[in-house]
Amino acid sequence: MKYFNLKSYHVMITDEAEAKMNAYIDLAKEEISGLGTVREEDGLYIIDDVFIFNQTCSPTTTVLDQDKIMEFITDLINDGKDEIVNRLRLWWHSHADFGVFWSGTDRNTINSMNADPVWISIVGNKRGNKLVSVDYYNPRISIDDVNLGVIKTEKNLDNIYENCKKEIEEKVNESPFGFYKNIKREKELDEMNKILEEIMEIESE
Ligand SMILES: [Zn+2]
Repeated sequence: MKYFNLKSYHVMITDEAEAKMNAYIDLAKEEISGLGTVREEDGLYIIDDVFIFNQTCSPTTTVLDQDKIMEFITDLINDGKDEIVNRLRLWWHSHADFGVFWSGTDRNTINSMNADPVWISIVGNKRGNKLVSVDYYNPRISIDDVNLGVIKTEKNLDNIYENCKKEIEEKVNESPFGFYKNIKREKELDEMNKILEEIMEIESE
């Protein structure tokens, strides 16, 4: 049985991993998605690195592309980095200029992780907002809106932004149809539907 004090429940991230994630989110023209490694220390989950893989920014990138992930994991294994593969327990993505929330697709992605023992998800945006969810699957427990604390390391963070910039140029293809635009279109359709419903109600009165 797990007991949670939700008020004090939090996940930690190293300043290095945080700087990388912030740089990726800031540098990507629209949404971007990646994974990360998590270690457990004294009952605390600590995110200690984040990664991006080859991707195209499009309305569907918020769904993790299984092929691209398998490619990414295969490369890690070929490089003898099994230790990293075993600790991949974070999915993070950005909503670019849009707010941070879990879309239906995001929820489906989190539900499909089925990780043992835990999976952590983060959605961020260019304003620096982040929403964190911690998920257990057996039994299924989802703890949303978890605090994210930063651990200071001795690492030099000066080159992170430049390195992330190079990596984004190599790995991220921009698509003319971003998630943000897609949401906007959905909202417009919703509004149109509401107007149509109102017209139909008036007609039926
Ligand atoms: Zn999302």
